[in-house]
Amino acid sequence: MFDVLIVGGGMVGASLAVALKPLNLKVGLIEAFALESNQQPSYDDRTVALSHGSRLIYQGMHIWSEIERGSEAIQHIHVSDRGHFGATRIHAAQEKVPALGYVVENRVLGRVLYNALPEPQYFELFMPATVTEVVPSPEQVDVVIQSGASTQTLSTQTLSTQLLVVADGARSPIREQLGITTTQHDYGQTAVITNVSTEYLPNQIAYERFTAQGPIALLPITNNRYSLVWTQPNVEVPTVMSWSDAEFLAQLQDAFGYRQGRFTKVGKRAAYPLVLVKTTTETAERTIIMGNASHAIHPVAGQGLNLSLRDVAVLTDLLADAVATGEDIGSSTLLAHYSAARQQDYRQTITYTDSLVRLFSNDHGLLGHLRAGGLSLMDRVPPLRRWVTQQSMGINQRKARLARGAELRV
Ligand SMILES: Cc1cc2nc3c(=O)[nH]c(=O)nc-3n(C[C@H](O)[C@H](O)[C@H](O)COP(=O)(O)OP(=O)(O)OC[C@H]3O[C@@H](n4cnc5c(N)ncnc54)[C@H](O)[C@@H]3O)c2cc1C
Repeated sequence: MFDVLIVGGGMVGASLAVALKPLNLKVGLIEAFALESNQQPSYDDRTVALSHGSRLIYQGMHIWSEIERGSEAIQHIHVSDRGHFGATRIHAAQEKVPALGYVVENRVLGRVLYNALPEPQYFELFMPATVTEVVPSPEQVDVVIQSGASTQTLSTQTLSTQLLVVADGARSPIREQLGITTTQHDYGQTAVITNVSTEYLPNQIAYERFTAQGPIALLPITNNRYSLVWTQPNVEVPTVMSWSDAEFLAQLQDAFGYRQGRFTKVGKRAAYPLVLVKTTTETAERTIIMGNASHAIHPVAGQGLNLSLRDVAVLTDLLADAVATGEDIGSSTLLAHYSAARQQDYRQTITYTDSLVRLFSNDHGLLGHLRAGGLSLMDRVPPLRRWVTQQSMGINQRKARLARGAELRV
């Protein structure tokens, strides 16, 4: 019998497994694809901007220095709106933090997380293995898994756990099997991602530029490159993906301008359709839904993983208390506390992200002037800029121990 079984070893599931280490619980992690597999959907060519709040969480887990070595710090953010005057600039020094965020490639983060998984004495990794069925009951949750790299070697087994954590991504077949419903909003937009090089060195400057087509985010990454997230209306995506590299660079130059000089090089492109998905509840019997399976949000403000790491911090906090007092770690009371503790953060982060998308995706003349006004206003009114900045850095929330950068001890 496991204490905690985690379905999905993506960035959220693996982060939780590492965070649980000090509690000496018997933890199992089930992941469908090997880390280096081309089909691995979490550790792909994307990058994530980790907030200052996420840095504190990984610090508390003792893996920050490893992550930092493979990341690039953001010292300055420049936000602008194509076709309108007005821009805002946010500086780490002004906000009194070491950096506004840290950009890391998903693959690099994956390697750090998997290297830091708990000792075999307390931990079992099932990979590649797919969860095909979960059966919750008042005493335990039974989890049916199929393991094996090929159909010839496939074997089925049933595992049991006190607490099941479902972190199997935005489509989450397990969430559906549990009958948990979602509300969804299709933005009609797709994020085209790739890496680009520019004439001028990135110098730790990130850009967010809003255009009539959708936002463009340029995040500095290692080796003097930028990670690009270019949001496009769905109908434009086949054309954008078919452009030659030269055409792509020319179109990007036109949309972004020359703040970084010329765009000189572009890498492989990939497209991610953008849909807001939120479950109507985060819990079922002895089960917690976490990460993208619970809330998949627009990447405009780079908040998805940051929000999920706060799920991890709050759950480990509650589990540490339950272990210390000998309480049942899958009790309905613990699940209710988890759910209650997460609601405000979900509301704030989803509203913040969603309003940015709606405000900046609408090219209506009046809205254009309002947001241009808003950007220059934000530049001139420190409290307003501070609120937006703190929201983006994930430090506007009530703090679980890990979220304060503190260690978990029982
Ligand atoms: C273009 C883009 C840019 C982004 N940029 C940022 C950013 O800058 N900052 C940020 O904080 N967030 C960002 N995000 C969000 C971030 O990528 C997600 O929040 C994060 O990937 C969610 O991780 P997850 O582990 O919940 O889900 P996933 O990454 O989807 O992982 C789910 C895992 O579950 C496994 N799985 C699925 N089903 C099963 C099963 N039945 N059995 C076993 N395993 C299973 C999958 O193989 C996968 O490994 C971005 C997202 C996009 C699309």
